[in-house]
Amino acid sequence: MAESPTVAIVGAGMAGLAAAHYLAINHIDFEVYETSDRPGGRVATDHIDGLTLDRGFQIVLEDYPELRRLVSVAELPLHRLYPGVYLQHEEEPLLLSDPRRVPGTYRQTLATLTGLMRLPNLRSAVHYLNTQHPTIADLGEVLPLPLNETVFAPLFRGVTLDSELSGPASFAFFILRRFLNGYASLPTEGMAQLPAIIAGPLRDHIHYHHKAISVASGQLIFDDGTTVTPDWIVLAVDAPALGPLLDLHLPAMRSVGFLHTLSNRRLFGVPAVELPTRGSPIYTIAPMSDIAPSYVNHNPERHLITASCDPTATPAELRAALALALNCSQEDLEFIEFGVVEAALPRGARTVAEVGQRVLLAGDHVGTPSLNSAIESGRQAAERIIRAVRRGTKEPGVDG
Ligand SMILES: Cc1cc2nc3c(=O)[nH]c(=O)nc-3n(C[C@H](O)[C@H](O)[C@H](O)COP(=O)(O)OP(=O)(O)OC[C@H]3O[C@@H](n4cnc5c(N)ncnc54)[C@H](O)[C@@H]3O)c2cc1C
Repeated sequence: MAESPTVAIVGAGMAGLAAAHYLAINHIDFEVYETSDRPGGRVATDHIDGLTLDRGFQIVLEDYPELRRLVSVAELPLHRLYPGVYLQHEEEPLLLSDPRRVPGTYRQTLATLTGLMRLPNLRSAVHYLNTQHPTIADLGEVLPLPLNETVFAPLFRGVTLDSELSGPASFAFFILRRFLNGYASLPTEGMAQLPAIIAGPLRDHIHYHHKAISVASGQLIFDDGTTVTPDWIVLAVDAPALGPLLDLHLPAMRSVGFLHTLSNRRLFGVPAVELPTRGSPIYTIAPMSDIAPSYVNHNPERHLITASCDPTATPAELRAALALALNCSQEDLEFIEFGVVEAALPRGARTVAEVGQRVLLAGDHVGTPSLNSAIESGRQAAERIIRAVRRGTKEPGVDG
């Protein structure tokens, strides 16, 4: 293998790409080694038969602070979702809109929310205040039951893809702020366009089909037997890949289900995500082609819907649940794919960001399961190295 770089980054997911970006703009020499043949890791899209199919329903939150720092969001080719959601409530789906962005909807929004209001649950509020690390579920229980069941719990099940709502309550506040301050969007060519744009200027330094199999004494060994001995190593791999590299036992990850279907007619009034009730195995239903017509090659006859769902549900259960939620017949839907993203999201506990001298970790497992957190971890690893290089030292501990 060619000369060893100052920094070797393992993994070209959002965390690895962010680390590479910040090193590049600070003129620190780096190379990225990625086992697959493309950037993006878990942000993946397939293009099949004129359809753009994301591997699992994902969205870009334009107000993610780390995204705004990394790229000019205004210049990204994004299609915005309607600022609101369809909720399943009694017979008809209810459209809850952000009245600040859709003038004229404030009466309806107020009426919907008022209808779901009861006294807050004081006992749960006391529990929440007395819990050191309250979960999203703890936060939901403070709310009046109908508001939690109809809005809060379906929203955060859809966002975290976790039916237990076991993530930290602080993550719910963070995400709520992002929704209130900015739009949720889809890139024109699918979610994988986002990492592809970030990888563009870095392309000469990304080596695909390079699987790291061991990290020992500052040396990185690849599966073809080649090695590099950089000054620094940033391991920006997903948590399951980290275990064998470092001989660590990490908490298991959660899997997430998804499905793609075409419908023979437009089933949504506005391009908003629908959130089924908690009893449904479907977490979110998104009218992809209504949001971004490029997802069906601008073919007005094709209506692409992508849903995220319980990974253990059977296709028959999902077909029935989707038809029920969309108030249509199963014959109206042509199912294209039922898939599961294995090890999709970290489960709870965080890993540390540093595992030894000159070996730093990056990835969503260092923070929270989100693009924002993956990017942040990559930036922080890069900044750690930049500071140490500027001070002329290779020791990560010296700058505290
Ligand atoms: C279905 C689904 C929906 C999601 N929805 C959203 C959403 O709407 N909004 C949001 O913010 N987040 C969402 N997320 C979370 C987000 O996608 C992840 O948090 C983020 O992409 C993780 O990036 P990462 O760089 O940490 O890891 P990864 O993307 O997993 O990148 C790790 C990279 O390392 C490579 N690698 C692994 N082992 C090796 C090795 N030994 N040698 C070399 N390379 C290796 C992998 O091939 C991969 O490219 C979703 C995730 C999933 C799965």
